[in-house]
Amino acid sequence: MAESSTHESLYLSAISALARIDSALGLPDDGCNSTESTIQRIEDMKHQINSLLAHCPDPECATCGEIICPDGNPGHFHHDGCGVCGEGKGMCGEDPTPY
Ligand SMILES: [Zn+2]
Ligand SMILES: [Zn+2]
Repeated sequence: MAESSTHESLYLSAISALARIDSALGLPDDGCNSTESTIQRIEDMKHQINSLLAHCPDPECATCGEIICPDGNPGHFHHDGCGVCGEGKGMCGEDPTPY
């Protein structure tokens, strides 16, 4: 039946999506796609991000920038975007406007 093969391909793409999420989160590739550890990892990251945001009134904070930047650049949150990893540069087609 066409319907069951649709379900099968949905199932397979869900599994590969979970595996990609796990690898993006830096979880070890244990091959069993534990949803619990994926959720736990996301909760940990949320907690980490929330505590950073709570600590910080400065949107260009060097301490937070160094933690968040994949390349460890304290200037990560510079309003023109990060000069090292490039994040925040020209996003959504907007010109980076100094303020
Ligand atoms: Zn900070
Ligand atoms: Zn950066």
